[in-house]
Amino acid sequence: MKKEKVIVVFSGGQDSTTCLFWALQQFSEVEAVTFDYGQKHRLEIECAEKITQQLGVKHHILDMSLLNQLAASALTRDDIQIEEGQGGGLPSTFVPGRNLLFLSFAGVLASQIGAKHIVTGVCETDFSGYPDCRDIFIKSLNVTLNLAMDDTFVLHTPLMWLDKAQAWALADELDALNFIREQTLTCYNGIIADGCGECPACKLRQNGLQTYLATKAGQEA
Ligand SMILES: [Zn+2]
Repeated sequence: MKKEKVIVVFSGGQDSTTCLFWALQQFSEVEAVTFDYGQKHRLEIECAEKITQQLGVKHHILDMSLLNQLAASALTRDDIQIEEGQGGGLPSTFVPGRNLLFLSFAGVLASQIGAKHIVTGVCETDFSGYPDCRDIFIKSLNVTLNLAMDDTFVLHTPLMWLDKAQAWALADELDALNFIREQTLTCYNGIIADGCGECPACKLRQNGLQTYLATKAGQEA
């Protein structure tokens, strides 16, 4: 374990909660930051708060409501339906540059609290059309943050090359599978744990979990 401070970009969902457990295993001092951008489901913020309390992690909530002024999306507006990207287009949950903004603010916060490490759950493998989830973007932003603040931050992306089943495997390795299954919110309809089962986020999460559990059962048999 590194005797260093880390800040985890944290939404209360499966991916960032897995990252939080990963950070707790890797670093001696862990803090989390959640961005409040007017999510349709306030439960997301409550969920994030509850998890950090349970894990004894200091939690920062930053107001990013300006995101709504810049770009309305299905995550913040009731009148926009959640749809998969059609014909290679971006899904309606897309807010352009969201990770660019979040990670830049996380960098400023890291500098304020004296953290050299920033963890984010972005993932290129189940690339859903978000260009700022790509590994090349993260590496580029890492250089930019260091130049902007004359610092030596390290951006960590433990999920970058994992598919959803492998992300559950990592959660299990970290002894956090049940916690993540029961306490996290991924569902676009705001239903905690196993969710509504119908929305794209639930389907992705369930498929990954079933694949992982089937592989595990196969190995144990
Ligand atoms: Zn759902």
